[in-house]
Amino acid sequence: MIQNQKTKYQIEETKRLKRRKKNIKKYEKIMRCPICGAPVKYRSADGVFRTSGRFIFACSEYENGCDTYIIANPDGTPAGTMADRKTRRMRQEAHYYLNQLYTYKDMTKSETYEWLAEKLQIPKSKCHIRYFDTALCQKVIEVSKTYLGKNYRNDSFVQCLIAASYSTRALLTAAQ
Ligand SMILES: [Zn+2]
Repeated sequence: MIQNQKTKYQIEETKRLKRRKKNIKKYEKIMRCPICGAPVKYRSADGVFRTSGRFIFACSEYENGCDTYIIANPDGTPAGTMADRKTRRMRQEAHYYLNQLYTYKDMTKSETYEWLAEKLQIPKSKCHIRYFDTALCQKVIEVSKTYLGKNYRNDSFVQCLIAASYSTRALLTAAQ
């Protein structure tokens, strides 16, 4: 019985790894860096950002200074569109304000994204910040701030976080 379950698990795991490999190959083939046009490579995120064990699709010129990438899902698909540093920071800032709707407006994640999709006039299925460019992120920040009224947390806190790329030290300093 236990042996059968193990075999079943192993079969599933082999299938999963095969799918992942297929996805990686597919996306490496079709994706191009939006900044320099170079091919995209699937690689470990170690040395790129702090959370270890994650994988990214990064510009193949990353080592030569093109800082463009997107986090990969566990199944080997990209979790959004490739972004340079500026876009990533805008996405962080957009998330920062949008997330406050859960706290201050008592909205669920689903309700928040429904609200946002309507505000941006895009389908909810396409309403994910990891797919947004800087202009759309700016719009998210604006509509969130307007909706939050005077309730949102102050800009200096956000600027501090953004300047330090959300390092733990900055978080601790800002919280004091
Ligand atoms: Zn590039």
